[in-house]
Amino acid sequence: MESKLLLAHTEPDGSLAKPALEALAAALALPGELTVGLVGGQAGPAANQIAGCGAVRFLAVTGAAFAEPRYSTDAAAAEALCRAAGAAIVLAPATSRWSRALPGVAWRLGGRVDTHATSVAIENGVPTVTRWFYRQRMEAVLTRSQRPWMVLLDSGCVPAWSGPAGMADVETVAVESPQTRTAVIGVRAPKTDEQTIRPDAKLLFVAGAGWTKKQADGAVHGPEAESLILGFLRSAQASLGGSKSLVDLSGEGEAVLRFMTHMNQIGQTGSTPRHAKGLSTCCHGEEPHVVGWRFVNQRRAINLDANCGWARGKADVLYVADAFAVMRQVNQLLGG
Ligand SMILES: Cc1cc2nc3c(=O)[nH]c(=O)nc-3n(C[C@H](O)[C@H](O)[C@H](O)COP(=O)(O)OP(=O)(O)OC[C@H]3O[C@@H](n4cnc5c(N)ncnc54)[C@H](O)[C@@H]3O)c2cc1C
Repeated sequence: MESKLLLAHTEPDGSLAKPALEALAAALALPGELTVGLVGGQAGPAANQIAGCGAVRFLAVTGAAFAEPRYSTDAAAAEALCRAAGAAIVLAPATSRWSRALPGVAWRLGGRVDTHATSVAIENGVPTVTRWFYRQRMEAVLTRSQRPWMVLLDSGCVPAWSGPAGMADVETVAVESPQTRTAVIGVRAPKTDEQTIRPDAKLLFVAGAGWTKKQADGAVHGPEAESLILGFLRSAQASLGGSKSLVDLSGEGEAVLRFMTHMNQIGQTGSTPRHAKGLSTCCHGEEPHVVGWRFVNQRRAINLDANCGWARGKADVLYVADAFAVMRQVNQLLGG
């Protein structure tokens, strides 16, 4: 049985976010002693939040320098925690912060790293990692002999750990803050009027370029498209995705849906979110787009064209209809 280390960084309020709790659940599913390594401005609240998880040790690197995401400080903290824990397997959530820092840490420790893991398990007596390749077209189960083996676990693959809070005994690991050339001066988020990306939503609503095209009356109906889509997102609390054609329009200066950014793009060069259901509207359903639907379980699409890509085995249900008319009625039924 190999020893395990869970690496987690705290949120600005000092707590652990869902991806960290998911990685904790994955770590607990492997045999062996678990050590928790925390990085952040302070570690007490996070350690107490998971005090009942059964970890044998709670280690922490804390201080103002480690509160902000930054490669040099995150890598120094993670390296110190890995050395102090001496664990063979290191699990961490695939947050932007860890995805940036941990590959370099694996190199410093002479170990290996695997990113975008979707599960960890024991097979034939050895730890294995599952991940997708070629934009989720092929799934592989792999194992490695090098240690430490660091694994970045994608979010949404494992139910988050939940258990009793308590008072954890935290050992501080001293790290001299490395010379930093990067000062974090603030957060610049994409310009959107409201939050439209909701990873935990049951439904993914995808808008395609058809919403911005001339309709049967020969006119473009941008403002109505905006209000129909936003109305639906608000009532259904759905997450908003977009096709590449639609999100690219904003870069070309055309009249577009103002709340749509490149962050919303689903597909080969976009994201692959995980939702129970998906509804595609005014989107053709071409392969580079649909490959982003790999983890959407039930798929429906609305398109005027009975020969669109969705009709070719890519959707469970295709409504050959005008999405403006359908969404108007759906919003009415939802009381909007
Ligand atoms: C290397 C590469 C990577 C790519 N990566 C991505 C990616 O990550 N994501 C992605 O999305 N694309 C990607 N693409 C582009 C992709 O191939 C398509 O060009 C794109 O998805 C098309 O977007 P669309 O379906 O919204 O637009 P269109 O192809 O213009 O389709 C619009 C659709 O709207 C329908 N429509 C119009 N009005 C209505 C109405 N009133 N009611 C119902 N339906 C209506 C039309 O029938 C049409 O089917 C990539 C391409 C390449 C080559």
